[in-house]
Amino acid sequence: MILQSAAAPPFLKNGFVVGCEETRAAIIIDPGDEVEELIGLVDDHQLTIEAVLLTHAHVDHVSGVARARRRFNAPIWLHRDDLFLYTEAVSHGLLFGLRIEPPPPADRFYDGPGPLAFGEYDVFVHHTPGHCPGGVCLQIGRRGAPGLDLFVGDTLFAGSIGRTDLPGGNYDTLMRTITTVLYPLGDEARVHPGHGPDTTIGHERRTNPFLLEWAARSPI
Ligand SMILES: [Zn+2]
Ligand SMILES: [Zn+2]
Repeated sequence: MILQSAAAPPFLKNGFVVGCEETRAAIIIDPGDEVEELIGLVDDHQLTIEAVLLTHAHVDHVSGVARARRRFNAPIWLHRDDLFLYTEAVSHGLLFGLRIEPPPPADRFYDGPGPLAFGEYDVFVHHTPGHCPGGVCLQIGRRGAPGLDLFVGDTLFAGSIGRTDLPGGNYDTLMRTITTVLYPLGDEARVHPGHGPDTTIGHERRTNPFLLEWAARSPI
């Protein structure tokens, strides 16, 4: 697997390029303000982008979608429950004093777990509401093997969790999502969050203060 990432101020949101080393087929995840860097990485590795996959539709995760769509002419995938955020991305940007190019309409909604495919790799889609209604975890691995790379958006961070005070956010939903959707993907699964460094499910389950607090007050 070819895995590259980039982040740019002010949000330092991670955008990812994930490619197949054999076929050079690739996807781009959450193109934001760092989109030009991602395009450079695609060119460096001589990849062909087959899809733009969004973990969710907050403005920092979609501000580069229009540019990516123009450059790669690949379909944009989104969870239906985040469409209200996607269509409001320009005005959400203005709340932060940012002027973003309006993202073009989503081409496809995730319907069911997939898999979506690029080259020798499969992407399984897990609905992970809580930070926002239409958040997803994109689980990627070589076809036939368990996917051990998780692109979780803003659901889970190294040592923290996603905020739940934005429209459609819910704390209990987020904690249930992490413990019932992400935990079963395995302690060894690598977590690539929307902001900050990578971690693993096991490390977070054992050390994340929010998850420890939740475990202490939940019977299971
Ligand atoms: Zn977010
Ligand atoms: Zn974010």
